[in-house]
Amino acid sequence: MSKPLVAILTGAGVSTDSGIPDYRGPQGLWRKDPEAEKLVTYEYYMRDPEIRRRSWQMRRGNRALRAEPNTAHRAVVELERAGVPVRVITQNVDGLHQLAGLPARKVLELHGTAREFVCTKCHARGPMADALARVEAGEDDPPCLRCGGILKSATVMFGQSLDPVVLGEAVAISKACTVFLAVGTSLQVQPAAGLARVAAEHGARLVIVNAEPTPYDDIADEVVREPIGTALPRVLRELSE
Ligand code: ZN
Repeated sequence: MSKPLVAILTGAGVSTDSGIPDYRGPQGLWRKDPEAEKLVTYEYYMRDPEIRRRSWQMRRGNRALRAEPNTAHRAVVELERAGVPVRVITQNVDGLHQLAGLPARKVLELHGTAREFVCTKCHARGPMADALARVEAGEDDPPCLRCGGILKSATVMFGQSLDPVVLGEAVAISKACTVFLAVGTSLQVQPAAGLARVAAEHGARLVIVNAEPTPYDDIADEVVREPIGTALPRVLRELSE
């Protein structure tokens, strides 16, 4: 019999130990600052070159691109290397699960990635470092080198829908898993939060590791309030044993 599948939904709380603040959550920095929120809102970004210039300047200072994985990211890698089938569904755009050593095919990035740029017209993609190098060299709103279209970070901006293929896979994993861990997420942003309910309704054991209460605590089998850096390694070690 194959080993049970573990699905791990991760949110901003998993990356705070890496020095990345919560930007996009309901209490995140962007939501509290209307001017900053415009820089990551699709409608404003597409129609206003000044917003784009400021967005590129913000990306130059993006801490997520220089951050290192922490204990929580490494604990997930250890679980995978112990031979437990694991899939990560993340709301984070920092790429730290992969940087910690988790194979990219095991990570679903619901909100895309800040490590790449994408053309809004022809959908060409490339490393964010390449686009930022052009900004450093003096292009304040670098256009697509292939079609001249507007480039943006390969993240899902406010006002954009999630990639239906990625979301569909996340739902399928939530239905199929034996254990569903929600870690460092307030479970307040849909549709990601609803995955916890989907998993529970399909018979998975639901474990929530988060500092603050979530709307799904009532249906969870286990709620852990300890700091993620100590709680997650312990919970995952128990799973692999
Ligand atoms: Zn293009």
